[in-house]
Amino acid sequence: MPGPSPKSRNRRAIIIGGSMSGLFTAAFLRQIGWQCDVYERSPVELVGRGAGITTHPELLHALEASGAGTRELGIEVEKRIALDREGRVIAERPLRQILTSWDRLQRLLRATIDPAHYHLGWSFERVEQDGGGVRVHFNGGRVEEADILVGGDGVRSTVRGQVAPELQPIYAGYYIWRGTINEADLAPKTLKDIFPYFVFYLPPRQEVITYPISGFNEDLRPGHRRYNFIWYRVADAATLRAMNVDERGVQHEFSVPPPLIRKDLIAQMHADARDIMPEVMLDCAMKIPQPFITPIYDFTAPQIVFGRVAMTGDAAANPRPHMGFGVAKAGNDAEALAKALDSHDDIDAALKAYNAERQPIGNTIVLHSRKLGTHMGVDLKTEEDRRMHALLQDDGAMMDWIAVPNFLDAYR
Ligand SMILES: Cc1cc2nc3c(=O)[nH]c(=O)nc-3n(C[C@H](O)[C@H](O)[C@H](O)COP(=O)(O)OP(=O)(O)OC[C@H]3O[C@@H](n4cnc5c(N)ncnc54)[C@H](O)[C@@H]3O)c2cc1C
Repeated sequence: MPGPSPKSRNRRAIIIGGSMSGLFTAAFLRQIGWQCDVYERSPVELVGRGAGITTHPELLHALEASGAGTRELGIEVEKRIALDREGRVIAERPLRQILTSWDRLQRLLRATIDPAHYHLGWSFERVEQDGGGVRVHFNGGRVEEADILVGGDGVRSTVRGQVAPELQPIYAGYYIWRGTINEADLAPKTLKDIFPYFVFYLPPRQEVITYPISGFNEDLRPGHRRYNFIWYRVADAATLRAMNVDERGVQHEFSVPPPLIRKDLIAQMHADARDIMPEVMLDCAMKIPQPFITPIYDFTAPQIVFGRVAMTGDAAANPRPHMGFGVAKAGNDAEALAKALDSHDDIDAALKAYNAERQPIGNTIVLHSRKLGTHMGVDLKTEEDRRMHALLQDDGAMMDWIAVPNFLDAYR
């Protein structure tokens, strides 16, 4: 990306959300000479969130271009395998892929920003716009002014909630049990048969996907790594709502914080795993120290720019996680925003150009994720949905479609 141009001097962005989108946006905008401040509502550093992250060429590009880099990014697997109920390999595909972790990415990106411009414990409350800039209000009465506001605050974006409250994510009809297991805790057979690979186990209307990632503190040494476990399961909205009652009996709207997941739900998950999983997968399911639930949502918006407010990452469009592409998209959104601002003198024209470039791509990515989600057999509306659902009942086809690189080429 070219260096700062004179017009960028003294231009300022306020970025809401200190996760992937917020950090990528700050890194790319700083490269074009903008002053950036990132505001994150969490009062403590973001660590240990989520778990495994599949990488794609687009993510590696964004990491290099943003200055975060890709050093010690993760673990490279050489192939994918699919198991049957007995744990036999029934299909395999050679595919070299680096599996990283949310923690590693956060650390690499966090190092690109001057700590003085990364503000923890500040929650966005509202924005006022006067055509020439934004006035942003935070908890505790803090007010900041800037040329633009960037909403990098996730699928439940409060920024978007103010500028376009009518736009809401839609529950996809299924959720994930997730977690990571320490390599050292896995049985020798699990370590030998599945730990080195990207693994699929696909009972009807369910998907179990596992792969190795770095350990605590991004440790890549054998024996110190972790195994990432994801189990997709169908549940209607009423069932999900019942699952969103926590250990203390409190109803949560979207999901329950991991430490508060009810023990009876975990016990039921273990019982269900015993019923359907091959021994090596069961070994993983039973050893997750703190399993947690992530409901799956679709979100797209007809526009991702609202005056001087631009949305990036999940706040702009939230794909289902089947492609493992959300962080790549966050990086690509951020780079496109910076390019547009750098190549237009007029900020409003730049934001219009950003919207024109990235809103359709976000839509495409979400549509593709819905296509992959048809495997689950939920809400199959069209002939094409049913055709995809039928195709994806084959283990080999799933390995050819799920989280594979360069899937966007088909849409270019
Ligand atoms: C099961 C699962 C698996 C996934 N696997 C992959 C994968 O393999 N590869 C991949 O690339 N992606 C994957 N993703 C997607 C990826 O995790 C997301 O796309 C990515 O985290 C989005 O980053 P973000 O910064 O846009 O949003 P978030 O990570 O949601 O961050 C938003 C931030 O905004 C903050 N915030 C919210 N409201 C406010 C407020 N009012 N004021 C201040 N701060 C606020 C939040 O605290 C949070 O830190 C997966 C997602 C799931 C659910």
